[in-house]
Amino acid sequence: MAREVPEGVNLKEIMSVLSWIKGSSLWNLHFCFGCCSTEIMATMMPRFDIERFGFVPADTPRQADVLVANGPISRKIVPRIQRLWAQMPDPKYLIVIGACPMSGGPYQGSYNIVTDIRDVLHVEPAAYIPGCPPNPEGILEAFIMLKNRIKEGSYGKF
Ligand code: SF4
Repeated sequence: MAREVPEGVNLKEIMSVLSWIKGSSLWNLHFCFGCCSTEIMATMMPRFDIERFGFVPADTPRQADVLVANGPISRKIVPRIQRLWAQMPDPKYLIVIGACPMSGGPYQGSYNIVTDIRDVLHVEPAAYIPGCPPNPEGILEAFIMLKNRIKEGSYGKF
């Protein structure tokens, strides 16, 4: 049974505060197999310092908001990435880094490499960061774009 909203409670404002909180503290889980990982590490180091924007590495998928995928996705690893994605609570977001997870990259056409990560997770990524590898500026920009869209309330639902 649906509960009534008490008089004087502005649900829209509550949602907007929740969106602001969510966008200000995005915990991310790294699913990294490829050389792009070094660029992600560089984004976390003092020069770019991604944590100052509220992006904190998560230790477990159960507390993660963003799955960061990079590197070639082999068919053998597909059940693991599907399990990690399933363990993440909603709302959750996917950021795809580098050519490998979005097209197979240099391994495109290999018998054991998935060409598009969407085929295994069945979700539209929040951001694609192209390149082989992309640079830390691009990775940082994608995270900030995601954060701003969540804060505006135009992305994700509570
Ligand atoms: S996109 Fe290029 S740099 Fe990134 S993991 Fe694939 S081969 Fe390595």
